[in-house]
Amino acid sequence: MSRTTKGWDKQSKYKYRNRNTSIVARVIENPAYRDGMVSADRKWIAQIVVETFSGDYRLKKREFRSKTEARDYILDYVDSNPEPEHTCTDCGSKELAYGSKSSSNGKLKVWADCSECDHEMPGRHTIQS
Ligand SMILES: [Zn+2]
Repeated sequence: MSRTTKGWDKQSKYKYRNRNTSIVARVIENPAYRDGMVSADRKWIAQIVVETFSGDYRLKKREFRSKTEARDYILDYVDSNPEPEHTCTDCGSKELAYGSKSSSNGKLKVWADCSECDHEMPGRHTIQS
């Protein structure tokens, strides 16, 4: 049985997808923790991303010690944002085009370009699940 929060479809206990946008709220295990790079208080990552053909564009990210805390964070987001939007930080337009570019360290970065004012918004590094 899947619980449906207004505007969102529950895909798993730790993943919600917005019905009108490509915005996803999810909890993943921090790969840096698995690799021994960070301590246990950063074991879980709650993230809000826009899923695009070029990759995930990150909107929000927070790290938690417990998976339950991380889940509470995405549930709070889902409950208080029935209609989330990703808009241009310059003109507020919703007409964004996503693409990816290689950054200086060789990692692929997803960018958003505003179709109205040509403002470019580089995405932050997104950790894939
Ligand atoms: Zn704009």
